[in-house]
Amino acid sequence: MSAIDIQEIDPGPEHEKVMLCSDPDCGYRAIIAIHSSVPGPAVGGTRFWNYASDELARVDALRLSRGMSYKNAMAGLPFGGGKAVIIGDNRTVDREQIFRAHGRFVESFAGRLITAEDIGTTPADLEFVRLETNHVAGLLSKSGDPSPVTAYGVFRALQASARHRWGDDELIGRTVAIQGCGSTGYHLAKELHATGARLVVADIDPQRVARVVQELQATAVSPDEIVNSDADIFAPCAFGGIINDQTIDKLRVEIVVGSANNQLLAAKHGDALAELGILYAPDYVANAGGVINGCRELLSWDEQTTRSKVKAIYETMLTLLEQAKNEGLPPFRMADQIAEQRLLVARNLHTR
Ligand code: NAD
Repeated sequence: MSAIDIQEIDPGPEHEKVMLCSDPDCGYRAIIAIHSSVPGPAVGGTRFWNYASDELARVDALRLSRGMSYKNAMAGLPFGGGKAVIIGDNRTVDREQIFRAHGRFVESFAGRLITAEDIGTTPADLEFVRLETNHVAGLLSKSGDPSPVTAYGVFRALQASARHRWGDDELIGRTVAIQGCGSTGYHLAKELHATGARLVVADIDPQRVARVVQELQATAVSPDEIVNSDADIFAPCAFGGIINDQTIDKLRVEIVVGSANNQLLAAKHGDALAELGILYAPDYVANAGGVINGCRELLSWDEQTTRSKVKAIYETMLTLLEQAKNEGLPPFRMADQIAEQRLLVARNLHTR
């Protein structure tokens, strides 16, 4: 008979807690990372992905949970950052046991961690999590799928980036290359199509590409070609690390802004974009709409308040881009500085 297990992993200098959780009876293995729970509970989604190794899953959980702390700080939300990654095939049909096991591990954090949806998980999965814990947001019966709201926030960040770069929000005639036509990429494509932007899209799932081509007259290219599309803006809406040594010289755009978390493989890639004169709008500022949407459940915000906060990502991004320009910093470094300062203030208040 196999046993449920929870093991603490060395969190390193930046994180509070990292746990390897397993329930072999249902094939559940996950890494749960809390970057910070000082400003408030560590809020962040659950990713379900077939990582090639536990080490890759651990690194992803560390990067994603840190990003959540910075995202929540930049959005002015009273939360820290956390993330869970379940290691496995997210197409599995046997979801109830896995997500109930996950819910039990989330519950063991006693409210210090609040989870939600991410790649590979759906609001229906979260209903299973909810059977075991109250510390979950994005439920079908409540704020639901955050993706359309995230996409709207990314669209607002894209408009702010266009204004900063070209002096105008107008996107008619501009071409946006979208990598990933999933939950956020599809809704971003809809927003852009409605404003008259041209779309070039790619996804490893041909059905997802076909939907955007048929509904929104997008031009499809292969997943390998999307990075060097002849476009004005590149919108990464799939996985992190897409701005890396292999892709950077292929980019022909003036702006990079999208929904994906951790678009820069490393900080040096953000610096390289700045040197190339490509405006990189920091991911965690652009994609904060999802966690803001979760505030309908977490902070009892009404729909109108939520919408206006997501709409205001435009002003947050524009101010950040202008501040970065004035300080002579790439915007991602400016955002990191502001977020780190806010986290420091929270820590100092906490230890008083
Ligand atoms: P999703 O799983 O619905 O969509 C991702 C899409 O990317 C899928 O269709 C997948 O087939 C495609 N894809 C994967 N690898 C690809 C590749 N190499 N080339 C082209 N396409 C590829 O996920 P999502 O919810 O749209 O999230 C996308 C990104 O946005 C993730 O990084 C996620 O963490 C981030 N994000 C999402 C939300 C949200 O509300 N859903 C909020 C904040 C951040």
